[in-house]
Amino acid sequence: MPKMRAAQIARPGGSFEIVQREIPQPGAGWVRIKVQACGICHSDSLVKEGHWPGLQYPRVPGHEVVGIVDAVGAGVAQWKPGQRVGVGWHGGHCGHCDACRSGDFFGCQVALQVTGISFDGGYADYMVAPAIALALVPEDLSPVEAAPLMCAGITTYNALRNSNARPGDVVAVLGLGGLGHLGVQYAVKMGFKTVGIARGSDKEPLARKLGAQHYIDSQAQDPAAELQKLGGAKVIVATVTNGDAMSAVQGGLGRNGTLVVIGAAESLQVSPLVLISGRRSVKGWYSGTAVDSQDTLEFSVLAGVRSMNEVYPLEKVAEAYERMMSGKARFRVVLTTGL
Ligand SMILES: [Zn+2]
Ligand SMILES: [Zn+2]
Repeated sequence: MPKMRAAQIARPGGSFEIVQREIPQPGAGWVRIKVQACGICHSDSLVKEGHWPGLQYPRVPGHEVVGIVDAVGAGVAQWKPGQRVGVGWHGGHCGHCDACRSGDFFGCQVALQVTGISFDGGYADYMVAPAIALALVPEDLSPVEAAPLMCAGITTYNALRNSNARPGDVVAVLGLGGLGHLGVQYAVKMGFKTVGIARGSDKEPLARKLGAQHYIDSQAQDPAAELQKLGGAKVIVATVTNGDAMSAVQGGLGRNGTLVVIGAAESLQVSPLVLISGRRSVKGWYSGTAVDSQDTLEFSVLAGVRSMNEVYPLEKVAEAYERMMSGKARFRVVLTTGL
């Protein structure tokens, strides 16, 4: 039996182990992918640290996967070997529960699958995924360029395009890390008056380089007051994981403005008066499904949006993961298999 390398976590809190495994066979409705690149997302710590209830170990993480379709299982009509595809967080749904019938696949109550959590992900030479979870990757993107767009990219792009902001509106992106540096680019390219908000003045050149028309240093300035000087934000996309930083910007929302939360902070303080007086709201946004990923990739090509990445070979997964967790990576960390 031919073997492959996989970087697995054997138990909650365990270290990464590079093991030799048999190359998996795709079952009915599933596709095998020869992995080229896989981004490391902060959510992979759910697998590493055992924070996902009911997760079965050992598990191979990774939900920012790009590779080549290598084999298809029975009944797969839409994919064929040789196509380049991506797999993101949303790994599958049943298609017939009430949530799915409403088009809310993320809310599937029967068979919601998450890549790298419900089944093994992309920290490996090969993986299998449900055909429904695949997005076609445009030729113009290299595997390393495309991988981070499968979670960081889709999350920011989809949050923005599903917001109530229209071209010309003030849109702020709170945080200029892995998500935020993409969020600023998407906001600029969608035609919003884009404001980058981060701690310290050292991030301003980056925000400007990414196209932001305004920058607010949240350490030196009151971000809410500064946003109000610009007329108030129609949307603030909060990419940080610090609830206090989110709470501090809500006063910067304009009339009917929305704070869109995509950073998994533990808690957040909301002022009812701020919400009521300006008919403002706070809402969350998850990533999206496979077709949203495909749209993200295509828009990124169209508009020239790219992730800034640090690249590590699969063997250095432990080092790469620590780099991501340190918060010092500029800005996404991507594993490559050498293919
Ligand atoms: Zn992710
Ligand atoms: Zn369902």
